[in-house]
Amino acid sequence: MRNDLGYRGTDTVCEFCSAELDRLSEVELLTDRDLAMLRQPRRRVNANLPVRMDDGSVAVFPSFRIQYNSARGPTKGGIRYHPDVDESEVDQLAFLMALKCAVVDIPFGGAKGGVQVDPNGLSVGERERLSRAYIAEYADVIGPETDIPAPDVNTGPQVMAWMMDEYEQQTGEHAPGVITGKPLELGGSRGRTSATSFGGRVILDAFAETRGWEPTDLDVAIQGFGNVGSYLATFLHERGYNVVAVSNAQGGIYDADGLDIPAVFDGYGTEDDLFVTGEQITNDELLTLDVDVLIPAAIEDQITMSNVADLRTEAVLEMANGPTTTDADAYLADHGIPVIPDILANAGGVTTSYFEWVQNSSNEYWSKSKVQNKLEEQMQTAFEDLHEVKQAGDDRSWRQAAYIRAVDSVLDAEKFRGNISR
Ligand code: NAD
Repeated sequence: MRNDLGYRGTDTVCEFCSAELDRLSEVELLTDRDLAMLRQPRRRVNANLPVRMDDGSVAVFPSFRIQYNSARGPTKGGIRYHPDVDESEVDQLAFLMALKCAVVDIPFGGAKGGVQVDPNGLSVGERERLSRAYIAEYADVIGPETDIPAPDVNTGPQVMAWMMDEYEQQTGEHAPGVITGKPLELGGSRGRTSATSFGGRVILDAFAETRGWEPTDLDVAIQGFGNVGSYLATFLHERGYNVVAVSNAQGGIYDADGLDIPAVFDGYGTEDDLFVTGEQITNDELLTLDVDVLIPAAIEDQITMSNVADLRTEAVLEMANGPTTTDADAYLADHGIPVIPDILANAGGVTTSYFEWVQNSSNEYWSKSKVQNKLEEQMQTAFEDLHEVKQAGDDRSWRQAAYIRAVDSVLDAEKFRGNISR
């Protein structure tokens, strides 16, 4: 079977990626060969991982590693542990990683990995053996100069530490750059934990400036009070933004005069992560508050056709991955509500992963303030580049600008490699 490029290859295109590219080709000139190059990933690998359980039995977990595009550099992307992980989800996330790395102009391609497992059902030992099994299986296709995994849903610094150790045992070499999101003691970067939120704050400042808005005049609602949402609430509060609402999976709190975020932290986490200050609201109510900026920072598919008409925000900053469905995104564009897309807004995390990899490669470790200064510069530049692309077209949305810039950058790299003509 030959694909559109004329080469032998798999016939399975990534449906989400294909639909996104078709939408992009309505506003940007892309040839059939350009499109064919990006409709499917460069490499898909999958394996059933046998893992010895504590009771002596062996359980088998389906797993994936998908390297979408490596024209701009080694592929990069997290590994997720979740019962719903499948090939099409990993395809989609790998594609978005390729675009995200291009948007912030770091020299990486995009990848993603996953294991179909409910990690809550695993003991610590089982989780370690699963993490080591994953790396033992994929050691030949990952590496500091080829494909660099990172944490994602339900994986964190401890899983990264086991994975790095397993890779080093497999290869017999010290190789901290094979994985990012490691504990500081094993070559992690200072500032990584709060980096996604720090980058989001830089992007919101820059966006506000384009509108002539002062942070102190802006009411902001944040959905999600985990790693991203809680650090972001702190950064924005320190900057003078009025954070009027925050929430977690159980519900949220609201204060029209602005929440005292340090006080929210003081009372938080005492009883099943319930908030003990402010007026109690539901997540649905939070999403439709009358605010200047709505920030979904929890999970995907939160702004949908069932609630988008009720939104009363002036703008949306997507800190979660994929919080707006495609049709709701089109609705917001039609109604003149700007959406700063995830592939820009939350790219501070992968940018700092890149800094971690640079530190591992050079064996020189940076202070937190150096990491944050470099991150601020990188995010600010990415924002300005996108702003320019947005202004260059009629009525381009921020998401269209981000896609245009990212896809052009990947295709230009393919062109210089001689893989397509442009
Ligand atoms: P997290 O697990 O630390 O926090 C998630 C938060 O969302 C929690 O407060 C949880 O209670 C809340 N939540 C869960 N389900 C909810 C629901 N149905 N309604 C409302 N709130 C709900 O996760 P995180 O690391 O903060 O990531 C949040 C989002 O940001 C995810 O989409 C993630 O992919 C994305 N992201 C994270 C990073 C990072 O560096 N952590 C980087 C890029 C993107």
